[in-house]
Amino acid sequence: TSVMNTEVAKVAQSGIREFDQKVSKVPGIVKLTLGEQDFNVPEHVKQAAIKRREDNKAHYSAQKGIWGVRQAISRYVEKRTGVEYDPDSEIVVTVGATEALYASLTAILNPGDKVIIPTPAFALYFPLVTINRADTILIDTSKDNFVLTPAKLQAALDKYGDSVKAIILNYPVNPTGVEYTESQLQALADIISEHKMYVIADEIYCELTYGVEHHSIATMLPEQTVLVNGLSKSHAMTGYRIGYFAAPKGFVDNAAKVHAFAVTCPSNPAQYAAAEALEHGLSDAVPMKEQYQKRRDYVAKRLADMGFKIVQPQGAFYIFVKIPDGFDESSFDFAVDLAQKAKVGIIPGSAFGPGGEGYLRLSYAASDADLKLAMDRME
Ligand code: PMP
Repeated sequence: TSVMNTEVAKVAQSGIREFDQKVSKVPGIVKLTLGEQDFNVPEHVKQAAIKRREDNKAHYSAQKGIWGVRQAISRYVEKRTGVEYDPDSEIVVTVGATEALYASLTAILNPGDKVIIPTPAFALYFPLVTINRADTILIDTSKDNFVLTPAKLQAALDKYGDSVKAIILNYPVNPTGVEYTESQLQALADIISEHKMYVIADEIYCELTYGVEHHSIATMLPEQTVLVNGLSKSHAMTGYRIGYFAAPKGFVDNAAKVHAFAVTCPSNPAQYAAAEALEHGLSDAVPMKEQYQKRRDYVAKRLADMGFKIVQPQGAFYIFVKIPDGFDESSFDFAVDLAQKAKVGIIPGSAFGPGGEGYLRLSYAASDADLKLAMDRME
């Protein structure tokens, strides 16, 4: 017998981080690996955090988050989705969307429960389910333009029945950049509404869509949706570590306990910065978005000119690239080769689950100069 938690021992380290560390050792490499923006946190947001500290108000906050911050989140979510969440009982401010996902899954999963994850998917979802001694049901979307179809969702639910506690639906999707349309979401919502389960909607990239409108499944299924979001992407605040979840009270009662026992509350100055961002910085994402769109178009064109097939991205800041015919290596070996021979670091698609094999994920949240250098080297 092991002294370790066997489920924890079983999960691999983050494939993305591991690969990033591996290729970071290549001298002179240009990395398009992590979703780490090259923008600064907007000045007014930064000042809000500084002021809170200077005013000596940076003590513990309420466990669910500072009241005014929850109010700001409630107003923001209502503006964007039309759904009203009570700041007192239906919103929790978390340490990034990461902790929102952790608290949400831990709150609902019993050993042996099932969680549906369309893949390719953000790699964090898999270990969070495993650590909770539950099982992932992976649905490969690569043959369906990387969108989960109602038929495949229905088939999984028919097969696994009541043991399915949740589906994790992320859109715009990391790693493909695909955005779900309103009717695609509605079709899934119609099926989910027939089952006693939650949809954990990770909408962290909702402010970063290009030429398409973002819709939330919370609008269609408020009683079953756990809306996960945060400030990391919309305000380049990755290091502030502020996220949140909004959900029906019954869910929040349980998930808020997991949250409180894990972290007590998020950093107090960072919470103030988040409130400032949501109250006075709703257009902060616009200039970033314009830059991302230019970069997306640039990288997409360069890749197309080289003969790569790509998944047309409509949001987030990733491009999912198909490894050309004639290369029979795995995406992992291809990415290692590319790092060593061309000095370009991009993530192998296999890091995102079975639907990602044969592809590579490239992050265009990088400077124009780095993107040009990377494209020249790949060419
Ligand atoms: N969900 C998705 C889809 C992400 O891409 C990320 C960050 N890469 C997160 C959640 C985690 O974000 P946070 O910094 O808020 O923990």
